[in-house]
Amino acid sequence: MTYKRILVTAALPYANGPVHIGHMAGVYVPADIYVRYQRAQKRDIKFVCGSDEHGVPITIRAMKEGVTPQQIVDKYHAIIKDSFEQMGISFDIYSRTSNKVHHETAADFFKKLYDDGLFEEKETEQYYDEKAKTFLADRYIVGTCPVCANPNAYGDQCEKCGSSLSPDQLINPRSALSDAVPVKKKTRHWYFPLQNYEAWLKEWIIEGHKEWKNNVYGQCKSWLDSGLQSRAMTRDSSWGIKVPLPGAEGKVLYVWFDAPIGYISATKELTGQWADYWCKKDTKLIHFIGKDNIVFHCIIFPAMLKAHGNFVLPDNVPANEFLNIEGEKVSTSRNWAVWIDQYMKDFPGCEDVLRYVLCANAPETKDNDFTWKDFQDRNNSELASIFGNFVNRTWVLMHKLCAGKVPKLHDDVLDDDDQWLVKEIESSKLKVGNLIEEYKFRDALYEVIDLSRKGNQYMQKKEPWKKVSNDKAQATTGENQKLIDNCLHLCLQLTANLAILINPFLPNTAKKLLVMMKVVDKMLDWENAGKIKLLSVGYSLRPPELLFRKIEDEEIKNQIDKLKSGLIKMEETKPAAGDQQPGTRKPEIIYDDFARLDLRVGTVKACEKVEKADKLLKLTIDLGNETRTIVSGIALHYKKEDMIGKQVVVVVNLAPRKMKGIESQGMILTAEDTDGKLRLLKPEEAVSPGSSVS
Ligand SMILES: [Zn+2]
Repeated sequence: MTYKRILVTAALPYANGPVHIGHMAGVYVPADIYVRYQRAQKRDIKFVCGSDEHGVPITIRAMKEGVTPQQIVDKYHAIIKDSFEQMGISFDIYSRTSNKVHHETAADFFKKLYDDGLFEEKETEQYYDEKAKTFLADRYIVGTCPVCANPNAYGDQCEKCGSSLSPDQLINPRSALSDAVPVKKKTRHWYFPLQNYEAWLKEWIIEGHKEWKNNVYGQCKSWLDSGLQSRAMTRDSSWGIKVPLPGAEGKVLYVWFDAPIGYISATKELTGQWADYWCKKDTKLIHFIGKDNIVFHCIIFPAMLKAHGNFVLPDNVPANEFLNIEGEKVSTSRNWAVWIDQYMKDFPGCEDVLRYVLCANAPETKDNDFTWKDFQDRNNSELASIFGNFVNRTWVLMHKLCAGKVPKLHDDVLDDDDQWLVKEIESSKLKVGNLIEEYKFRDALYEVIDLSRKGNQYMQKKEPWKKVSNDKAQATTGENQKLIDNCLHLCLQLTANLAILINPFLPNTAKKLLVMMKVVDKMLDWENAGKIKLLSVGYSLRPPELLFRKIEDEEIKNQIDKLKSGLIKMEETKPAAGDQQPGTRKPEIIYDDFARLDLRVGTVKACEKVEKADKLLKLTIDLGNETRTIVSGIALHYKKEDMIGKQVVVVVNLAPRKMKGIESQGMILTAEDTDGKLRLLKPEEAVSPGSSVS
């Protein structure tokens, strides 16, 4: 099938937090590379995305923060949008699912399926929190795991032993919102009978899309093999797209019903020709997503599109696996993540470096690991010393040996090495292009860097600097000047080619190269790649610009410390007031449990800031018969000089623990206010150091 136009969608990020490098590596960087390449190919392509702003987690976050769901999504939509812009993700539109056009589009979609009689209406009993007056998703019911006795297992899974659970299996279930015991309550919902589409899906995917990536194809196959069931496409909630039926008050569309329709709504917002991209058979629709979204994009959404009947189906869903950080899974609750907004503050102007590292190390076939050391190595020894170095040498030598102008190519002295380089330039175009078309972005990027590596080899072999006469009285011979000219002519043409080939991956770097070459954007058209007559003979070029700076050890150390201090914050200061939300109580204990704590009053004798940790203070505390060192995460709440002489309550029999290389011999007690402010606990009147607390 020859396609007339391409529509690329990137997974809608969920607007209850900022985006991190795992999102970028899995979805947005590869999608952007693909789109920029197709644009350079002059193909008719649209690239759509937007924030996913509905669903239970947003309402719960709003409830906990005491704000409205709209305030939550407004905040994160702005942050996410800004991160994408800073990273050069070139969406044609970045919309949001709280927009009116989306509400209408999704409601119409639902209504069409309803009118066609494709839903099943069922009444079931679901858990309800009478205190918070809301139905509870399984995730918001906690209780004791029947398998391992973990007291904080979720209604869908125990994170301690990994067992899959249903809320009915939990012992002493309680609501995570209010601590109330959930009750069962009848409710009515509309179910989409996926089993009716099973045979069709099998034929479409298992037979029809064997070219899909192994991880995607395999996951689809296992879903289809285990059999599909009806899924509720509505929920009881006040936040979301109202179910467009009479008598359906208090019900909204399931977030995974409405979110993928967001791609359609965003296209509508973008262009009056939206229907060409969604309804004409010669459109190539591609969904870029992470592996956790495969079932929604390969099974549920295609079944919805098929049921609706008016829309094209995806041609491919090149989902990636996950990117871990420093050997551990990304965890937003533990703050084990590298956030894009933070990165851009710490490395201004280095968006291409991150794009490079995330593509070179992309989790295309399996989970991969991001480490700061690898980030530094790839910048310093690939981008700077191979690509950047080749361009810089070419420019410096061209200014020195060829008067800053593009020298002639002398056919009479062309040798095998020159021919070899020309061939390499010509063949790279096809190699890189084909790999991008096959969604093999790592390999494609490797080819580009490899071409610059070949440029270095060529120059090293030619050694144009040795052809110059160093004797001032004696000019460089005509023959030698020809050799110099040929070498630099080809190196300059190679640089022009590198600009075209690197553009989809590192657009900002391509722009810098255009400035150095004094050429217009049009040169980056893909049809120009592979040619060796991109820069005209005699054309004068600008001085070189530094493409990639070195990244120092110190910067890397700071990032690692930052990452680890995020963990310390979660593990060490939160438990003081409990890592719990107001209103959520811990399970009951007996007196003996309490009596195991050895709490004593101490007096602070000395206090200093812990280096490279914004939140930590190191305290020296007099406990009467001994003095202890305690590290506490209160530096944002107390000045070090104000701490001296204060009395504090210390847990003295807590196992010692190292923080930032300092052994903390206990913990001081604080109360955490609802706004996150920490306040020390102290005796109402001064007591002698070492007094026990009970
Ligand atoms: Zn368990």
